[in-house]
Amino acid sequence: MSGRIGFVTRGYLACFDSSGMACVAHYAPGAMVGLECALTRSPALRLLPMVESGWIDLPASALSREMGLEWLEHIFARHALGRLARLQAEAACNAVHQIPQRTANLIRRLHESEGREIRTTQAILSQALGVQRTSVNAALKALERDGALRLARGRMQVLDSEKLGRFACGC
Ligand SMILES: [Zn+2]
Repeated sequence: MSGRIGFVTRGYLACFDSSGMACVAHYAPGAMVGLECALTRSPALRLLPMVESGWIDLPASALSREMGLEWLEHIFARHALGRLARLQAEAACNAVHQIPQRTANLIRRLHESEGREIRTTQAILSQALGVQRTSVNAALKALERDGALRLARGRMQVLDSEKLGRFACGC
């Protein structure tokens, strides 16, 4: 086995496909990263920390030596259906839901992991959503006008999580 396997300890990460264009997964604390790539010997996916994040990682070969390859494959199989379902849900969300709802939804997720104060930038949000920064900016401004958020440089504060939830698509 090659590559590295990581465990997210804090924060929130977006994961991009090998083209680096499409966000294919989100990782919150507790998520395991890189197992798929290690098992299929495909190149590592790009990770974008959306807020200050932490993870520990170790060589896949060391983990496989300690745990046994069979056990790693067992974990992989157990999570495969869930991952596929999430990927399909994410693709449907991108296709069907509008940018303002998707932006609110992403902030709702970050709020769940970060609490009231979310330290992130519009550039990072737009990358994770795969849309223009100006569209994210317009969506954030609308949320601020409605009293759901307060925006500041490099961070935002959730003022009303119910309002935020009403805007969010809920995917
Ligand atoms: Zn959605």
